[in-house]
Amino acid sequence: MTGVLDERMRRVRGQMRELDVDTLLLSVGPDLPYLTGYEAMPLERLTMLVVPVDAGAKLVVPELEAARVPAQGDLFEVVTWSETADPISLVAEAVRTDGRVAIGDRTWARFVLALQAAMPAATWMSAVQIVGPLRAVKDTAEVEMLRKAGAAVDRIAARLQSGEIELVGRTEAEVSAELARQILAEGHHKVNFAIVAAGANAASPHHEPGGTRITPGDLVLCDFGGTMVGADGVGYCSDITRCVSLGEPAPEVRQAYDVLEVAQASAVDAARVGAACESVDAAARSLITDAGYGPYFMHRTGHGIGVEEHEDPYIVEGNTTLLVSGHAFSIEPGIYVPDRFGMRLEDIVVADEDGPDPMNRAAHGLAVL
Ligand code: ZN
Ligand code: ZN
Ligand code: ZN
Repeated sequence: MTGVLDERMRRVRGQMRELDVDTLLLSVGPDLPYLTGYEAMPLERLTMLVVPVDAGAKLVVPELEAARVPAQGDLFEVVTWSETADPISLVAEAVRTDGRVAIGDRTWARFVLALQAAMPAATWMSAVQIVGPLRAVKDTAEVEMLRKAGAAVDRIAARLQSGEIELVGRTEAEVSAELARQILAEGHHKVNFAIVAAGANAASPHHEPGGTRITPGDLVLCDFGGTMVGADGVGYCSDITRCVSLGEPAPEVRQAYDVLEVAQASAVDAARVGAACESVDAAARSLITDAGYGPYFMHRTGHGIGVEEHEDPYIVEGNTTLLVSGHAFSIEPGIYVPDRFGMRLEDIVVADEDGPDPMNRAAHGLAVL
């Protein structure tokens, strides 16, 4: 693992040089485990990775957390601070205080403000420009983690589609809890979400599963995923949406689903190295719009995925980023007709030189139970 982390740190420093950044500061949030294998607790006590562009990195951690920091060779030096010490000055001492500082976008404002006060001559920018583009392009090991997490939620989707997971008579919240249990049982370390929306509730894309009891005739949308942690301690996300019809769907539902299925497949097929992100969005959207459902597809087609559920690249109109091998993202068009029904079909796909590489292979047709 240290080899992978060394390589990431090398690329980070390259990007820092490119952008003329003297110091990178990362606190809580996914950039830290991505670069160090260490996930800091979101505490009021400061944890901060200090990466000078051409000196050794330091990980400033509260003394009581130090035991949780994995040894990573000479990737960084661990600097602990005791309860009564001032971690802000520890960080400021390790930084060129009149230089350009890039700071992680999840850093708590209290720390940002204190650091800015301690380094009045520094200029500040977001670390997203440094770490974001690197995180968006997955290496082979990362793709394999996404594939493993994807296969785990595929198995759950298959149980939904076969009727093995009881739906009729249960509330959305009960089914959501069951999906959450299965996400953990399938090897994830954390549940990120388990949306279950029955009937007209699914017309709201991020419906909060509640007390609605699922009844025969409902179209039930399930969108769920978690984080699976690999041997290196870094977690990767899964995210899948499938719909199940309890009984023969109404003609308007069947018609819409047929359009959705073709639109989703066409966007997956468009997700090729060299294609612009917005063209992948257009591949799904044009078919949905041509079929008359345009106003009912009111969200972007997808989001990047990796250590975070949502990250670069976003599959959205206006994003002219060209896909490169290793970009990983969701393709999840939907059709949401208010007061009637909602549907979405979602896979995670990796752009690969050999074509789009889907991380999800659960059946795409509308399962009718
Ligand atoms: Zn969503
Ligand atoms: Zn999803
Ligand atoms: Zn998603």
